Amino acid sequence: MTHSLDIGHSRKAGKSAVPEILRERGQREVFCGLTGIVWLHRKMQDAFFLVVGSRTCAHLIQSAAGVMIFAEPRFATAIIEERDLAGMADVNDELDKTVTRLLERRPEIKLLFLVGSCPSEVIKLDLSRAAARLSKLHSPAVRILNYSGSGIETTFTQGEDACLSSLVAELPRSESAEKSLIVVGSLADVVEDQFARMFEALGIGPVAFLPARNLDALPSLGPGSRYLLAQPFLGDTARALEAQGARRIAAPFPLGVEGTTEWLRAAAVAWGVDPDHFETVTEMPRARGERALERYRQTLNDKSVFFFPDSQLEVPLARFLSRELGMRLTEVGTPYLHAEHLADELSLLPADVLLSEGQDVECQLDRCRSFAPDITVCGLGLANPLEAEGLTTKWAIELVFTPIHGYEQCADLAELFARPLVRKTRLAV
Ligand code: SF4
Repeated sequence: MTHSLDIGHSRKAGKSAVPEILRERGQREVFCGLTGIVWLHRKMQDAFFLVVGSRTCAHLIQSAAGVMIFAEPRFATAIIEERDLAGMADVNDELDKTVTRLLERRPEIKLLFLVGSCPSEVIKLDLSRAAARLSKLHSPAVRILNYSGSGIETTFTQGEDACLSSLVAELPRSESAEKSLIVVGSLADVVEDQFARMFEALGIGPVAFLPARNLDALPSLGPGSRYLLAQPFLGDTARALEAQGARRIAAPFPLGVEGTTEWLRAAAVAWGVDPDHFETVTEMPRARGERALERYRQTLNDKSVFFFPDSQLEVPLARFLSRELGMRLTEVGTPYLHAEHLADELSLLPADVLLSEGQDVECQLDRCRSFAPDITVCGLGLANPLEAEGLTTKWAIELVFTPIHGYEQCADLAELFARPLVRKTRLAV
């Protein structure tokens, strides 16, 4: 199998030259954007996700949600039947009836997402019109939005990006020029609370989170809005926020002690926080995070890691593993490389790392085998075959399902990489 190579260019970003990037366009092994519902439905407690799709879509969500212990039924699939596909029934009528039945049964729903899928796109079902039509029927009690989670050319984290960018249009507008901060990207509640406390101690505010736990807590957008990305896969959401006048605070992502410190520092600089005050506020949690990482360094130092492109978290994770745990990076593959959002991350990677964007899976598998890394981060579809070949793997999707951001979660993040290596060592004894 051939693959297209476009070893482009070294770009300058921040402090050092960015490593060269191998760009591939070939067969890919990825999950679709419906997967995002698994963590989004937990976060947004008065929202409901109605996938308009096939039985395959329903199975995907149910099996992905099965990974979560505390999954609650704030999602469902409106199945497009064969008679719908054959044009024997009016799909819009069916959808309207399904939504009405759902909202009658579940009066606690305040926000309903109609989530498009490959089948709904194949039959060209216009979910934005359906959302507008149904909104007229059910507002103001319920707001109805739509986005696509279809999986033909996407990665699984893009579902969150599509969901949040649809939500931007719903944010209340403010005329205030007073600076306010929006933290963008779904975070576990415990992490959100920790960050809120840090911002408060630093004197940064008002702060709101997108997505919010409830519709009432959505941030407002105005000329003073600044936003910090908590996740690296939110390109469309960032564009939608910028179009409404919000301005991004450039920073690395809050993974690991260093990433968290620099992320907080970027906000502190934007708010003019005194550097001594910043040091005082961050000193203890930093020290706690560094101590917690110490024992993982013994397991992970000098171990090699290979990333297949999957979650779009690969670059910040690689930076954390190499700089804070001493791991050797072989290839860091990512589905899309957003040069601007990742500029601060790329400048922190070792100059000799092989960065790749996109995928040609057979070629990449060959490279992975030739590196013979100690641990390979990949999607579920590749993990079993690679384990059968004797490689140790880590499911990329676990990194999105687990709270890993911030100082207090550093050790949990390191543990996710240490555990498979420790298990392998035990099995080998
Ligand atoms: S890839 Fe398409 S058909 Fe398959 S589960 Fe995702 S949306 Fe449904």
